[in-house]
Amino acid sequence: MTDQTTAPLSETATASNLSAAVQDWATALGREHVLTTEEEVSNFTDPYAPASTRPLAPAVLLPATVEEVQQVLKIAQDHGVSVWVNSQGRNNGYGGSAAAEVDTVVVSLRRMNQVLEINEELAYIVVEPGVSYFDLYEAVRQSGKRLMIDVPDLGWGSVLGNALEHGNGYTLNGDHAASVCGMEVVLPDGEVIRTGMGALDGAQTWHLNKRGFGPSVEGLFMQSNLGVVTKMGLWVMPRPEAYFDGWLTIERDEDLEELIDRFRPFMLDGTVGNCPSIFNPHCALSTKVTRADLWDQPGPLPQDVALSIGRSQGLGAWTMRFALYGDEAVVARHRQRIEDAFASLEGATVTGSLLDLDRVVLESEDLDQKQKVQAGVPDLSMLKMLDWDGAPGGHLSFASTVPLTGRDVRRIVSLVRTEQESQGIDYHAGILLYQRFAIHASLLIYNLDDEARYQTVRDIYTKLVVEAARLGYGEYRAHVDFMDLVSDQYGHNDHALRRFVTSLKAHLDPKGILAPGKQGIGSSRHRN
Ligand code: ADP
Repeated sequence: MTDQTTAPLSETATASNLSAAVQDWATALGREHVLTTEEEVSNFTDPYAPASTRPLAPAVLLPATVEEVQQVLKIAQDHGVSVWVNSQGRNNGYGGSAAAEVDTVVVSLRRMNQVLEINEELAYIVVEPGVSYFDLYEAVRQSGKRLMIDVPDLGWGSVLGNALEHGNGYTLNGDHAASVCGMEVVLPDGEVIRTGMGALDGAQTWHLNKRGFGPSVEGLFMQSNLGVVTKMGLWVMPRPEAYFDGWLTIERDEDLEELIDRFRPFMLDGTVGNCPSIFNPHCALSTKVTRADLWDQPGPLPQDVALSIGRSQGLGAWTMRFALYGDEAVVARHRQRIEDAFASLEGATVTGSLLDLDRVVLESEDLDQKQKVQAGVPDLSMLKMLDWDGAPGGHLSFASTVPLTGRDVRRIVSLVRTEQESQGIDYHAGILLYQRFAIHASLLIYNLDDEARYQTVRDIYTKLVVEAARLGYGEYRAHVDFMDLVSDQYGHNDHALRRFVTSLKAHLDPKGILAPGKQGIGSSRHRN
């Protein structure tokens, strides 16, 4: 296998090869679709980095078709200029539209924004990269088809981009990468492939059967720099008859282990098929108010103060949101089983309401964000959290995967909470439950004008990545500035996995023009 030090090189975008490339791109795409002024390109950076630390891309390209994507890559190859591809580019908290390396031209696929298919009979959709959750939701709603899409907390991102990054939502299809079925991909040399059954001309099951003939390669294009995905099929849910919007609160922090361990059987046996989330009072409060509204002392809002304010608003030391779907009898039975399991845990409460999904989908405006997302209705109100430290705000997401046991969840909570609070940073935690593991996500919020705090947050993040990895808990996703660091933790057998992917990269993209540094592959650190 290729050694790390011989990873593909991308030539530096020198002034002359860059300007020649820009000219060729302007000819291929039209001058108006090649952005080069500071004002234009500044919309395609990391919006959560302080302005003084935001590197600007040398240019931004806006192709509108698969053929134009092919041309973009060909011209990049010809001139040895590297490109970083976004779909909507709303990957905020992980770098937004920004590339991992300076001198990388940004390609935004926002103009490729067609919903190509909405199939009610077999419950799937096919989208182009620029389709946002709002676009898809509107298209499904207007089609009148009884389908329910899955949305993440913020609905402005790309459906396709979020799935590629292993993003999550809160319905039965909350694991977005797992819902992907059938992709079209442009390889770095411009070749177009269709994955799985799509390789069969006239295939009838491209978006129905995840496998095809031979090795399954879709995963190679997720969190990857091996190709540009231009179409994607995703499974969605038939809109169920009943939706129970469930809430489970525990009064005492020390019962978190019990919460996880008593709930796990319902995840394993399918009683709860959605992706429940558990949050602490800081997290819940920050969706409504700022710290200054609650606390006028320096330093983080203390746990006990947050807890008592939270209590007055019906929150627990930890509050879980979950959904039950099905017909009313099934939902009532499942709800009863969950209530029975927690009846003997002092201070645990199960509440919730049965919502009419047709009404939720058609008249979503009067619902809370938390009820909406489990019904597949996109929303942006969670952006309020960023104001916690005063606007303009930003955040880094520190998000580790741990086994779905009370013991492991406690371990990551203790590690992250202790480190953050010792550095004066509030602990806003959300724990997302999958069938066998959880993602513990801590939002490290800062005010963009406070560069010292921004640096503190980055230092905490750096330390936690290493300490969590020591416990066997890896990050599921990383901000572009930390991709090398996170990739370094995945070092089994002298980084054999990274060397394997690097050898594929060297073969598919020998000049390393596509997204150098993405997930720590082909970064300049390795080249040097
Ligand atoms: P979102 O708007 O949903 O947050 P982005 O468009 O920001 O998603 O994409 C997130 C990341 O996924 C990008 O930084 C890029 O690395 C990768 N990505 C996005 N779109 C594509 C694509 N069409 N092909 C390959 N990689 C992509």
